[in-house]
Amino acid sequence: MDSTATAPALHAWTPRALYIHIPFCTNKCYYCDFNSYVAAGQPIDAYLDALEREMENTVKALPPQTIGKVFVGGGTPTVLNPVQMTRFLESVTRHFPIAAGAEFTMEANPGTTDPDKLAAMRAGGVNRISFGAQTFDNALLAAIGRIHEADDVVNSIANAKAAGFTNLSIDLMFGLPRQTLQQLADSVERALELDLPHYSLYSLKVEENTLFHRLYERGELPLPEEDVEVEMFAHLRRRLTEAGYGHYEISNFARTGFESRHNSAYWHNEPYYGLGAGGARLCARRAASQYKRRAALYRRRAGGPAAA
Ligand code: SF4
Repeated sequence: MDSTATAPALHAWTPRALYIHIPFCTNKCYYCDFNSYVAAGQPIDAYLDALEREMENTVKALPPQTIGKVFVGGGTPTVLNPVQMTRFLESVTRHFPIAAGAEFTMEANPGTTDPDKLAAMRAGGVNRISFGAQTFDNALLAAIGRIHEADDVVNSIANAKAAGFTNLSIDLMFGLPRQTLQQLADSVERALELDLPHYSLYSLKVEENTLFHRLYERGELPLPEEDVEVEMFAHLRRRLTEAGYGHYEISNFARTGFESRHNSAYWHNEPYYGLGAGGARLCARRAASQYKRRAALYRRRAGGPAAA
């Protein structure tokens, strides 16, 4: 009997992109409202079991076509140890047909990617890493609850390049408590010295259910004035454009050919599989939140109303 006779028909909107959420982090940053939990003591292997079952059920319900974009986010997916990483990536490629030449991104935190883990990521198909650097000012990193220092960013990028990764990105943040324009400008120069093909630039947004929100409500979060924040974004935009990066999306700059295909899929409203705890909605919310913030800043610069 032809086994395809009983298979569900492929829908015209079958996704060609895949997002998977790993909701564990070494620590919780003070501004973060993403679905993430301190990894210590968490049943990470049981989570990977559940994720594998979700993959099985998903491909049964909606059989995939060839996937051209994979994004593993969180949380911090690189908190998985090399054995867990290998197991996880094998289960992804076992369930989803990943196209040759697909973009396969994993988010990482500086300091969580030693050579063994990077080797496991490469062997498992990851070909793009997005590191959360945020700033190169160590005092600011501590003030926002990051686990790493600036040198960890530099070392992590060096390790990733040594492991063969060429498609690398870092996130920078602006509008941080007590951050000055000069501190931001210094961080941009340190970031550009890394000579990466892609940079993501996010403004701090104070979200409910975070430490920063509680401080904000009590009037104890010394954020830069909005005009300063607008200047920060203008500086980032000017400096990255001068350095040859295209501003291809509100928060993202890239050299030609290194625009994130997964980011673009969101902005083009393309369907994607969303797996893992919080996976289905997280990225849409992140994108929408960044969009509202940027749109308000643009309107202010243009002299229009600030509220989104
Ligand atoms: S590393 Fe990322 S996901 Fe984890 S707590 Fe910090 S901001 Fe949130």
